[in-house]
Amino acid sequence: MNENIDHAIKAKKQAHALWKFQGRPADPCNELVINKKQTTYELRKQCRNEIAQRRINDREEIIQARVMDNKLFHKLISRQRGKLGKLIDELHVDQSSYSETNILEGWRIHFSNLAKKSNTSKFDIQYLDTVDNKQNPLQRGFTENSAPLIATLMIDEFERENKDLKKTTILGMLDAKSAFDVVRQLPAEAEIHKRAFTLFGNICRSGKNSMEWRIAERQLSIKNMKSNSWFIEIKKLCLKYDIDDPYSFLITPLSKFLWKKLISTKINSYWEKRINDESKLYQTLSYLEMSYKIGQCHPIARTVDANIRDIAKIPVRLKIATGTYILQTNRAAFNQNKIDVVCMLCNCSEETLAHFLLGCTRLEYIRRDILEKITNTCSLLFAKYNLSVEIDLLTVVVNPYAYCITSAHLELTIDINIHLEPLCRHLIYTDCTISDMNY
Ligand SMILES: [Zn+2]
Repeated sequence: MNENIDHAIKAKKQAHALWKFQGRPADPCNELVINKKQTTYELRKQCRNEIAQRRINDREEIIQARVMDNKLFHKLISRQRGKLGKLIDELHVDQSSYSETNILEGWRIHFSNLAKKSNTSKFDIQYLDTVDNKQNPLQRGFTENSAPLIATLMIDEFERENKDLKKTTILGMLDAKSAFDVVRQLPAEAEIHKRAFTLFGNICRSGKNSMEWRIAERQLSIKNMKSNSWFIEIKKLCLKYDIDDPYSFLITPLSKFLWKKLISTKINSYWEKRINDESKLYQTLSYLEMSYKIGQCHPIARTVDANIRDIAKIPVRLKIATGTYILQTNRAAFNQNKIDVVCMLCNCSEETLAHFLLGCTRLEYIRRDILEKITNTCSLLFAKYNLSVEIDLLTVVVNPYAYCITSAHLELTIDINIHLEPLCRHLIYTDCTISDMNY
């Protein structure tokens, strides 16, 4: 019991006594009747609070105990379970019984038994022999030391071989596993190529005795480039990424580490070049200036500190930089209905990016100070790093990193991170917020 409940009980008793003393009035509007009711409510409320508080404390205790004290943890858990907990206090496995902290061990034994082959006399021994000994040498998956990808390869290559022979393949599937996990950073196509190369590397290292190696050797020696074979696909990929003939890696395989390094370097440099080349063709990406680096986040998508208010400004900042923030001029260009390109805030000129970020008179009052800060910071930084290029204010605001062209500008990048980018991010965020409020 706590102090609040104590008070509530006293108050309730007092109210009851007063009410009794006044001859137990029955009128619900009577002050004493109301007071008696209110003190009863108050007592109930305090009791509920206490119960809730205890529940919170119990949970807290469990969480703490989980880290500190295993025995206490189990005790608390069974208390939390209440009466039901008693029903599964003990676990019997193989004539042994397990309880409390040992219960996990019991489950472990139970499940490992499930996975073992059982020696019961009722088992169809003949069938077991078939499964054990007469497994097709090409069968993969659910066999020891084989990855699902290898199983997929076998089926896939079988189908491709049939295509070469102009035969139909019919497959019966019991279960299908998705072959690809989460794809990140690189385009999906490149990730798939990486997986394929990894698999081919495994096959190269698996040695002449493995079925996979022998199939690889056969296909790579006898098939021409027109074949549907997966190994010929690998050969084509090697040409694409400027990697040596796959046959040579089959004969003299690289170590896992070297192979991985080789394919990563080749694939990354191919895609970096391709994406940057293509980004030149997209007008909307013109401000990002060939800055795609595999595995690296563009600096405008990051903040120096993890300040939640700064992070909230990033999405709209990215929209502006990638040309996906919709301005009146974009609307007019993509809409069949006649849309006025004129800025809806000031009604005096076309709403282009430059107008929106730098020119619009309606936004003038909020951006004057910050634009001045941006210009000053920019001049200081450019002087510090001896940059002789002309400063384009719009480029600075949209992507200040456009001026960090070589890796020698690493320090400039850091300076921009700290001094310039927060200002630009803030300016864009403010502009967009005000503009959204006006629509
Ligand atoms: Zn305007």
